[in-house]
Parts: sequence; structure tokens; C-alpha cells
Amino acid sequence: MESTAGPGAIGTFAPDRRTFWIDGRWQYPRAGADAPFCTVTNPASTRTVGRVPVGSAEDVDDAVRAAREAFAQWATTTPAARGTLLSTVAAGIRGREDEFAAVITAEMGAPRDNALGVQTRLAAEVFESYAELLGTYAWEERIGTSQIVKEPAGVVAAITPWNYPLYLIAAKAAAALAAGCTIVLKPSQDAPLDAFLLAEIFAGACDATGAPGGVFNLLTGAGAVVGQALAEHPQVDVVSFTGSTAAGRKVAATAAATVKRVGLELGGKSACVVLADEPGGSEVGDLGKILSAALDDVFHNSGQTCTACTRILLPDVVYDEAVQLAAAEARRRRLGDPSSPGDHLGPIATAAQYDTVLSYIDRGVAEGARLVAGGKTEEADRPDGFGDGFWVSPTVFADVTSDMSIAQEEIFGPVVTLHRYHDEDEAAAIANDSVYGLGGAVWCADPVRAGSFARRIRTGRVRVNGGSFNVAAPTGGYKQSGIGRELGAHGLDEYLEIKTLQW
Ligand code: NAD
Repeated sequence: MESTAGPGAIGTFAPDRRTFWIDGRWQYPRAGADAPFCTVTNPASTRTVGRVPVGSAEDVDDAVRAAREAFAQWATTTPAARGTLLSTVAAGIRGREDEFAAVITAEMGAPRDNALGVQTRLAAEVFESYAELLGTYAWEERIGTSQIVKEPAGVVAAITPWNYPLYLIAAKAAAALAAGCTIVLKPSQDAPLDAFLLAEIFAGACDATGAPGGVFNLLTGAGAVVGQALAEHPQVDVVSFTGSTAAGRKVAATAAATVKRVGLELGGKSACVVLADEPGGSEVGDLGKILSAALDDVFHNSGQTCTACTRILLPDVVYDEAVQLAAAEARRRRLGDPSSPGDHLGPIATAAQYDTVLSYIDRGVAEGARLVAGGKTEEADRPDGFGDGFWVSPTVFADVTSDMSIAQEEIFGPVVTLHRYHDEDEAAAIANDSVYGLGGAVWCADPVRAGSFARRIRTGRVRVNGGSFNVAAPTGGYKQSGIGRELGAHGLDEYLEIKTLQW
């Protein structure tokens, strides 16, 4: 365990890190104990809560070598042995779930209930779901005279963002390890601490199960240096990236030089379409309930969810009523201390993202959209004791049209745009008028119409009448929202090569 000098401990976790987890050991970067480091800021208080080393291309080389050596052994293990490691990691996360939640709250501002639920317990569930899948997954099939065999793809570089830091690592690490691959993880520099806690879990789990320590390696550093070196490295077989479309393009271009397999989970600008109860009808039975659920989807995690349906499309006949209801619903919601339980919103996770969200709010007003709730948070609305934090009030724009930048670009904050449509063809056209294709939602009293409308939306996942998240079902993007899928059997396939034995 490392020194707790510097930023104070979070539970029993020491957030002042000087070493990387490589080859089953805590190792200083090549630059030594005095290697450069970056600080981690609590976005609610703007206080420093941790420090992590800034790695180099040489450190990437060490981590990839360790993963390559471990691969020789891990690739030959049985699915049952791999399942045992995954279950042990899941139990480890659950055993320290309070610390994970506190660490995630401190590093990126997710309120306590969010940090414990969808950020931490969901990550454990992902590891459990892959342990379970390993019991039933078909590794071979017969096609005529041929035997089709699935084999692990090799060393995986996982590059992850700050918005659901642990869960998004789990989606990659659990699937890659289940496949028999080994992994080098580079988390976001803005929220890297949960990954160090996860490495502590892996340390114990590898010891307990006899898995080679190099199955999971962790280093931190700038995307343009460490991320780039991973995408370039000739001994990396797969790059799995989650983050912005701009960075994803660079990763894919770099990885192309060595023809790596690339998985990309990128940005989104998803639409929630509210349909009238009958075709061309004048009523939406549960409009208040639907809008409340639609706003929950966006304001959850302060709008920093890649699949959030930030555009809400409403039929002409209920549009004016919907604007009033949405504005009232947004004003009802409160910002609050992220470390307290409750359904309040936390701050925006980083200073840069805070500036981005505020500039989009200004652009929305300048483009002629009608601001009906929220905007930059007044002093009086900031939670007591957190006056300096990166707070944005739940914000609603009405009268938004698809030519506005706030309708086209990912804002990644608690900002909803309301759009009016005249008929369902127009609704489908607005929903699909995006370079992105990640998520979506449809609400309709008639489930058959809801289902057929959902099929018209060109995205990787559509919620129908509030359908709940399924950890075993694939998620991913059409269009510029990405390539490939995560979670479940489809997520496992991303880390497997297919061999045909011709008899
Ligand atoms: P980001 O692209 O800035 O960073 C993501 C990761 O990529 C970080 O670890 C960063 O250091 C690294 N990186 C940056 N430039 C790189 C480069 N040139 N080469 C290699 N690595 C590089 O994204 P962010 O701001 O951390 O996260 C927010 C974005 O992530 C949003 O656009 C959001 O939609 C997207 N996201 C997508 C999904 C999904 O499943 N589709 C999930 C969560 C977040």
C-alpha cells in the first residue's frame, strides 16, 4: 500500500499514487519516484483529492510487455478458471463498494447514490455477467466439414473516459479477460483513482485464484502520449476506446498503421420521441410522467451520459403544455453535496467540461432557442459550502430546430432541447438528423406502434416506454457514435479471433 502523504485518504484508499500496477507489482514509472504527476480535482469543491503519475511511451512498453507475457498463460486457461477470476473481482468490488463510491464521488462529482449504484454495483454486475456467460458460451461450431474455433485476440489496450469511470472500465476488462485476452488500461487523467482501487482488487484476486499478475495492467498519463503509444504499439492487438468522437478518430487512424482491431464507443446526441396515443391523435395520456422520466434520463449524472436522450421530440398538439411541464420539472430538481445520499444533481466533472456546457447555453440563446429553465447557476442556488464548484442548473431550451448547434452537437451537461413535430415521418426525420447514432427512446400508449417506431431510429439502443437497462444486452453506436459493441456475448466477440479448421 502506498503513502497517504498529500491528499487525505478516502476511506482506507490512499489517493496519492506514485506507482503503476504492471506485471502484478506496484512499479514506479521509468522516470522514477519523482516522475511527473497530475492532480485530481473534486469538481464540487475544486480541492485536490488525489495525484497519479504521468506515464511515458517507455512505461507503455513495460505494461504491454507484461500483458504479452501473461497472455501466453492466460489464453490457455479454461473458461471456468477465467470465470473464477471475474467472480472474485466482482466480489472484491462489492466488498469495497463504499470506498469505490466515495472515490468516484470525489474524483468526478457523481452524487453518492449514483456513484454506488450505476457507477459501482453495475461494474460488479458486469464482471458477474461475464462469469455467468462463460458457463454457456459456445466456443466452437461445425459448418459442414469445417470446425469453427474462437480464440482470444491477444493484448488489449483499453482507453476510458471520466463520466462512468469504473463501469466503462468493467465493460472492457471483464469481456477481454473472459475471452482470454490480457489488458493494459489507461483511464482518464480526470478520474483515474477508481482504477487504482480496481488494481488493488485485481492484486488480491490474482493472488487468490492463481491468475498471472500481468493479466491486468494499469498506467496513467495524457491521451496524446500514453493513449497514442498504446494505439501505436505493435504488440497490442486490440484497442478498445471509449470517449469523444474526435479522440476516437485519432485512435483509429493511429491503430490503422498496424492494422489493429479497434472498438470505438463515442459520443451521442440521442432523441426521445413522444408519440400521440393514436396515429394523428391529440392526446398523450401520461405526458407529465413521460417528461419526468425523460428528464431523469438526461439530468442523471448531470447530463454526462453518452446515451442520454438530450433531444425531446413532441407532437404539435401537446407541445406547449409539454414545454411548461418540462420547465417546471427542471426547476423542481436541486443541486446538492455529492457526498450526501439523495437524487440531487452533482457538479459537472471537470473545469473544461463546465466551460463547454456554459458556452453551449450561450450559443443556444444566441441561436434563438427559448431558455425556459436553468442556465448558469446563481450563487444562491449553489449548495452550501460548494460555491466554487462547477455547477450547472438543470436547463431546458424550447423551440429548438435541427439547424441549431445545440441540436446537433454533444453538450454533455444537464441541457435538454425540446423540438416540435407535425407527424411521425417528421419525428423520425428529426430523430435521425444527426451524425451520431448511439441511443434513443420512444414513448407511446400503443406498444406495437412504439416498437415499430423504435426500429426507424438509426441507433444502437432504443428504450421503449422506459424499458430498463440490461447488462447482458449489447450497447454501441451506429454512424459516428462508434464501431463494435460492448456487454454480453456480442461484447465478448469483440475480443475473439475466429479460426476455421478445414478437415
Ligand atoms: P476524451 O475523448 O477526451 O478522452 C477519453 C480517453 O481518451 C481519455 O483516457 C483520454 O486521455 C484519451 N485520449 C484523448 N486523446 C487521445 C489520443 N489522441 N489518443 C489516445 N487516447 C486519447 O473523452 P472524455 O472527455 O474523457 O469523455 C467524454 C466523451 O466520452 C463524450 O464524448 C462521451 O459521449 C463519450 N462516451 C461515450 C460512451 C459510449 O459508450 N459510447 C460512454 C461514455 C462516454
